[in-house]
Amino acid sequence: MANTPYPESYYAASANAVPPRPALQDDVETDVCVIGAGYTGLSSALFLLENGFKVTVLEAAKVGFGASGRNGGQIVNSYSRDIDVIERSVGPKQAQLLGQMAFEGGRIIRERVAKYNIQCDLKDGGVFAAITAKQMGHLESQKRLWERFGHTQLELLDQKRIREVVACEQYVGGMLDMSGGHIHPLNLALGEAAAVESLGGTIYEQSPAVRIERGANPVVHTPQGKVRAKFIIVAGNAYLGNLVPELAAKSMPCGTQVITTEPLGDELAKRLLPQDYCVEDCNYLLDYYRLTGDKRLVFGGGVVYGARDPANIEAIIRPKMLKAFPQLKDVKIDYAWTGNFLLTLSRLPQVGRIGDNIYYSQGCSGHGVTYTHLAGKVLAEALRGQAERFDAFADLPHYPFPGGQLLRTPFAALGAWYYGLRDKFGY
Ligand SMILES: Cc1cc2nc3c(=O)[nH]c(=O)nc-3n(C[C@H](O)[C@H](O)[C@H](O)COP(=O)(O)OP(=O)(O)OC[C@H]3O[C@@H](n4cnc5c(N)ncnc54)[C@H](O)[C@@H]3O)c2cc1C
Repeated sequence: MANTPYPESYYAASANAVPPRPALQDDVETDVCVIGAGYTGLSSALFLLENGFKVTVLEAAKVGFGASGRNGGQIVNSYSRDIDVIERSVGPKQAQLLGQMAFEGGRIIRERVAKYNIQCDLKDGGVFAAITAKQMGHLESQKRLWERFGHTQLELLDQKRIREVVACEQYVGGMLDMSGGHIHPLNLALGEAAAVESLGGTIYEQSPAVRIERGANPVVHTPQGKVRAKFIIVAGNAYLGNLVPELAAKSMPCGTQVITTEPLGDELAKRLLPQDYCVEDCNYLLDYYRLTGDKRLVFGGGVVYGARDPANIEAIIRPKMLKAFPQLKDVKIDYAWTGNFLLTLSRLPQVGRIGDNIYYSQGCSGHGVTYTHLAGKVLAEALRGQAERFDAFADLPHYPFPGGQLLRTPFAALGAWYYGLRDKFGY
């Protein structure tokens, strides 16, 4: 039987201890079969269990094996597209609903952490750092935009103020969001999985869904068992492959890489990030970083279109880190890993229903830690018959990547190269 371990990341090395979970070896019946134990699947499972559904989660590898256990750990509000762009595409009514939901995911995370006592080094405060005056202008308009949707915990930082929160000479200013923040992402997923089990949900690991028998009572097949359910939630995101062919056509898995330094010690860590906020810059191909609970720097950036694993991650990411922090030139890198997120052409999530009973959410295109937690709530609402918020997402238009499955990777890479050049020359 397959036994897929976690990648060798800092998160796997510092994960909280959890009991082993069995693979599915039986035929079981449930109300909802959730495919995938990342944040989307776990958040859906938790909301459903809290509302009286019987839930079975199938995970191909281990809880948090995908992006949810590998990401930068940044709690970033809103979506990977600005709300005014969404408004121009879908009109004011739908945009109003989506805008109101854009800051809910971070609240859900904090509620979960408090309610289920999840130990995941949660810290408040996220900074968007501007490298150019144009980016600073964008942050100013973003602040006004977010305030229109009731999000008021924002502070613009001038050059002097941003130096007080991050010791990086590149920035001309920034914006601090005190409802942003950061977490140990795998420990958040593991804590949510324990919460699922505490409410009577079942999670099977090393149990990939290999086939879905569609119909009035759909059946999900794994190599050694099957789950008959009233509803299915597909939450495999960039790791889903072709299990549901309709979903593969309008999205593209992309890789992004993360490194983690050796522990920096309290003094150096405090010099770099005195208030322990997380930071992401405003480039299209952005860099993001934060301190861990044991004062290492986790630094991520760059995108590999088509999700190929690069041979030497440290060689790609360390120069980016040294550009931001030349003072780290003698610091050792202890961990380097890659993970996949799912890109859509609009950079907005794909949400919907296939037939009467197969629901899905995927493709939040980079900023997914908060959105996926919201997605679980919105999917659970839809299964309970309250579909207004679900429909606001499901009605977003989605288009296939130019070039189809064969040429979408080079086309997308070309687009990113163009935007990378714009970043480089400050456009
Ligand atoms: C390196 C990296 C850094 C990132 N940094 C940030 C960040 O700092 N902030 C932020 O907001 N977002 C970040 N993201 C994005 C964010 O992590 C994702 O959007 C989010 O975690 C997606 O969650 P998910 O549950 O939808 O998918 P995943 O976490 O990928 O979970 C999908 C799960 O489904 C399982 N699965 C797939 N197919 C099957 C099947 N057939 N049967 C059973 N199980 C299956 C997989 O094994 C996996 O565990 C980052 C992503 C990456 C890769």
